[in-house]
Amino acid sequence: MKRTLLIILIMLSIILCACTQTNEESINCSLSDNSLSVHFIDVAQGDSTLLISPDNKTMLIDAGDNSHGKKVVNYLNKLNIKKIDILIGTHPDADHIGGLDYVINHFDIGLFCMPNKAHNTNTFKDVLSAAKNKNLKIHKTKSGMNFSLGKFIKCNVLSPTKNYDNNNLCSLVIKSTYKNKSFLFTGDAEFQNEQDMIKSNYNLESDILKVGHHGSSSSTSENFLLKVKPDIAVISCKCNNKYHHPSEKTLALLRKYNIPLYRTDKQGDIVLFCDGYKIFSYKKPLTIYRR
Ligand SMILES: [Zn+2]
Repeated sequence: MKRTLLIILIMLSIILCACTQTNEESINCSLSDNSLSVHFIDVAQGDSTLLISPDNKTMLIDAGDNSHGKKVVNYLNKLNIKKIDILIGTHPDADHIGGLDYVINHFDIGLFCMPNKAHNTNTFKDVLSAAKNKNLKIHKTKSGMNFSLGKFIKCNVLSPTKNYDNNNLCSLVIKSTYKNKSFLFTGDAEFQNEQDMIKSNYNLESDILKVGHHGSSSSTSENFLLKVKPDIAVISCKCNNKYHHPSEKTLALLRKYNIPLYRTDKQGDIVLFCDGYKIFSYKKPLTIYRR
């Protein structure tokens, strides 16, 4: 009897090992087999997202605040990145562009895109002078513009559709598509922008939603979420931040539609891999949607 039990236990552990291997193998296989990787870098209260295309082109969207530029540079260095092909500053708030000057000083930059919105802060001026010192032109970007990251990733700018005085409302919203899968990066876009995008009849449907404005209650309307229909949501914010991000309201909405959620404040850096048909990650999404 004891012997039978032992044999069953050994067989079970062999099966379990095999399952884990298959899982890891499928991720590694997809990595070598032309995957896009999307890195939500943990920059505390801020945003910084890195995309590496299957043909090794790189796009960095934001670089956290002034104190996190170094973390972003170190993160890219560890991945042996020498050039940022496309650099995006979604809008002039410090928690998005604060680290950009440090990034610009440390890498070759291809295209540098920002919305047509100036801001009277030293942080914003630092970004302008870092770009100027490198003869880097800032491409004033708005909805309707399209570009490609390498040969495979299509990027469509969906917002802002008009000029606004408020920084958040000027956020660049970018939909990046690789074959059958797409990612929606929303910066700090708010309800007004969501309405604008819906009115513009853009195809908002995306598999992954980087939730707008760190999950604030002024973003992610139900109407917008129903248009995007994400399979996975990602929130970037600091643990116990003073803004109380993400809001209970946004979390309740994600829970209502059973959308698996990743959070940098709870899980640190988050990397999603996409082979154009499936999304993989070494981390599991959260199941408890609590502040
Ligand atoms: Zn922000």
